[in-house]
Formats: sequence, C-alpha cells, structure tokens
Amino acid sequence: MKIVHVASELFPYMKTGGLADAVGALASALADKGHEVAVFLPGYRAAVDHRDAAGAQRKLRFKVELGNDFLAGDVRVFSPKKNLSIYLICREEFFDRRAPYGNGERDYEDNADRFIFFCKAVVEMLRIGDLGADVVHCHDWQAALVPVLLRDAERRHGVTLALKTVFTIHNIAYQGVFPAQAFARTNLPEELNQMDGLEYYSQINLMKGGILFADRVTTVSPRYTKEIQTAEFGCGLDGVVQTRADDLVGLLNGVDNEIWNPAVDALLPARYSAADLAGKRVCRAELLKRGGFAPEFKGPIFGMVTRLTEQKGVDFVLANREFFLGQDCRLVVLGSGDKRMEEELRELAAAAPQKVFLSTKLDEAMSHLIEAGSDFFVMPSVFEPCGLNQMYSQVYGTIPVVSRVGGLVDTVIDADENPSAGTGLICEPNATSLRDALQRALILFTDAPRHAAVQQRAMAKDYSWKVAAGGYERLYQDSL
Ligand code: ADP
Repeated sequence: MKIVHVASELFPYMKTGGLADAVGALASALADKGHEVAVFLPGYRAAVDHRDAAGAQRKLRFKVELGNDFLAGDVRVFSPKKNLSIYLICREEFFDRRAPYGNGERDYEDNADRFIFFCKAVVEMLRIGDLGADVVHCHDWQAALVPVLLRDAERRHGVTLALKTVFTIHNIAYQGVFPAQAFARTNLPEELNQMDGLEYYSQINLMKGGILFADRVTTVSPRYTKEIQTAEFGCGLDGVVQTRADDLVGLLNGVDNEIWNPAVDALLPARYSAADLAGKRVCRAELLKRGGFAPEFKGPIFGMVTRLTEQKGVDFVLANREFFLGQDCRLVVLGSGDKRMEEELRELAAAAPQKVFLSTKLDEAMSHLIEAGSDFFVMPSVFEPCGLNQMYSQVYGTIPVVSRVGGLVDTVIDADENPSAGTGLICEPNATSLRDALQRALILFTDAPRHAAVQQRAMAKDYSWKVAAGGYERLYQDSL
C-alpha cells in the first residue's frame, strides 16, 4: 500500500511527547513491512537542521490560498530508510521556530494560520506531487483538517487524491479550537462552518473536522475509545465521537524496540536483559550519581519522566511530598511544562536534595537512564490515551505505578489484585490512592522473590510495533 502520514511530530525530528514516538515507530514499522510510506511534517527548525535532512533531494515550491492571501512554501524530501520518505513543509515565517506550539508561556498567536497552512500544503502536495495515496492517515488536531480539505479539493478538481482517510486521536484534550474568523482561512464552503461541520460553540474546532470527515477514526487504546464517548473524558467532543462509534477502533501504541530496548540501548551506561540484570544495577548506580544521591543507597528509587501538566497527575505526586520525604526512598523527576508545577517540584527537591532530584530539561538520554535505573516508574495520570512510559518501564524491568485510566489499564496488571499475572501497581487517579500504591510498592520492594517475579513478567511482555502496526495494516485493508 501507499500510505501517507500527516503529523506535527515525528521522532527524531520533532518531539514533545508520545505522538512523535508513535508516528515515528508506526511509519518505520509499515516501511519495514514493505509498504511505501511518506510522512508529512512541518519544517520546524530542528527538523530542517537534522542531519538526515541535510541531503534533502528535492525542493518543490507550492502556493496555497489562506483566506484572501496566497502563501508560498517549499517542500524538502528525504529518505532516512528504505520505503520511507519524509516531506518537510517549509515556510520560515511559520515553522522556523525553536518550539512547535508556543513560547513556553502561551501558544503562538498564529497557530490557526500555521496549521491550516500545513494541512493545505499537504493536500496541495498530494495533488501536484501525484503521490497516488491509498490511505492518508492524519494524527491529532494539527493534521485534522486534511480529511476535510482533501475531499473538498477532490470535489473542486474532479480528481481522487486518496482512496481512504484515517484520523487518529492521540489526545482529545488538545483540539485546535480557534476563533470563528479562522474559518475564513480554510477557504472551505460556508456549509462546513455549521454544527455538523467545524463549528463549535461559535468557534471552530479542527479536531472535530478530522473526527467527522475521516473514513475511519482510531484512538490509541481500547479503553480510551470508550472513555472519550463519555462526558468525563470526551472534553466536549464525546457527542461527536459517538456519531462515529461504528467506524471507531482503539489500537494500542507499541514500543520501538530499536530505541527502547535495554539489550541494545546505546544511551545507557550498560545494557541488560531479563536473563542478566547486572547492567540494570550499573544504570541504577549511574542514576544515583546523576541525582547526587549517596552511592550506597539500597532502597527503592521512584522515577518519573513526563510533561508537567494536570493530565499527568503531577499534583498527586506533590500531594505525597511527605511520603517521599519521610520514607527511605529516592525520587527522580525529569519533566518540564507548567511553571507552577516546576516550582513546587523544585521546592520539594530543595527541601531534601539527598532524596529528591529534579531536572526540567528535555533530555532523551536521561529519560532512558530513569527508565533503566529506577525500581518503580510513577505515572498517576488523570487521563491517559495510551501512555508509552508505562510500557517502556515494563520492558526495562521497572515496575510501573499507574492510575486506572485509559491505556494504562490496557497495559498494566496490578500485582496485588492479580498475583499470578501482575506487572505493576494500579491506583485510582487521586492522591490518597496513589499514596496507598506507593506504600504497596515499598512492601513489594522488600519481598525480593515477589518483586523479581513481577519484574520478569513485565519484561516478558511483547509491546513491539510489529504487533501494533499489524492492527493498522488490517484497518487500512479493511477500509479499502
Ligand atoms: P504524552 O505523549 O502524553 O506526553 P507518553 O507517555 O505517551 O505521554 O509519551 C511521553 C514521551 O515523552 C516519552 O517518550 C517520554 O520519555 C518523553 N518525555 C517526556 N518528558 C520528557 C523530558 N523532559 N525529556 C525527555 N523525554 C521526555
């Protein structure tokens, strides 16, 4: 099949979270299976400067209509591996920036223009580049306008640009909602600016367009698929999602086992496997060193790698500061985002630097070291579409402590509730229940045989993308 992905993040060219890992690994796995895969990505500064892009072969110029303006851009194409081409949609004014969505304090004011432009450019490239796509697979709100624009362009030009479109909701909490005036920038017919189109409480909602207009809609876990059809998790789009229930499926993300695999992980000081955990002890020693902790410490290390947002349950961790200060354990947090959370974590680390370490950097190597060197990985999310770190943790023999939501439920089994199959510990998404789970972690840690059994079961799980990509393959074939 000829499969085109459209996304605003793609590992290793631009990443703020799991979206990048998921799209990168899925595209790569589909290419390995012999499909012809193209990925469209905004030409962010980091992507254009990436060494893979240095040899970009072609530079196509294009122009798209954005309201009353005609804006030009160019496309750089490169191929990092067989069957895989990356198309960077470049326009310096929009994408030659350090961060993809905002300046850290708030979102960029021209995000509507930036991503409407991106989607229009993709559709224009499908037209003039004659890609002959079987499936165009769009990810999250930044790419959500593509299914809408594509069908409109096909109608206007009397051509077929893609046989089928798929839209994946990686996180329904981010929808691309903009003031009503932004609709004019799409140049779509006014009838699409209504309740059964992009209109959303007198604004426009790009994700709504993707959900309504794609041939198939997917989310990243079975449980999240159900959750987003409820008012509690649907973030206002639950009714819209319900209208697509027949075309909706939840496919779990996988783990890229060339990148997240302790047996080959080049970012670690030592490698290891379930059969020989000596390397994990080396990673632990290195993590203690990086945290500035006493090297002889023998108790449990709790790790966290996360965007600092309400979603990730950071406040439940902060509410348990007495636990981390009072118990004989260590806490290592790698995370950035919300300034208030950063500040409170910094205060916690300053209160007990011998026990709590915080880094607010984006640090790929440190994220691997935390996964490898910790004993428990703390991820008490309020909601979690799929979540990757709880899967990485299991693969790295680090027991995840997660909340009972979304993909976390689909990938972790509680070791107390199910002693013969457990791979982690599950709490409810609140501070009290997290405290209980942290206590249970301490008990588990002191019971060496049981701890080892949970760890071995976790490490035996197969989360590889070969399995996950198979689900998408079947979905594409079925839709075609
Ligand atoms: P989300 O996409 O909601 O942020 P996921 O668990 O799906 O959550 O994916 C998060 C990804 O981002 C993981 O690969 C994680 O290691 C990474 N990550 C988060 N924060 C950082 C950070 N400060 N430095 C490096 N990697 C990070």
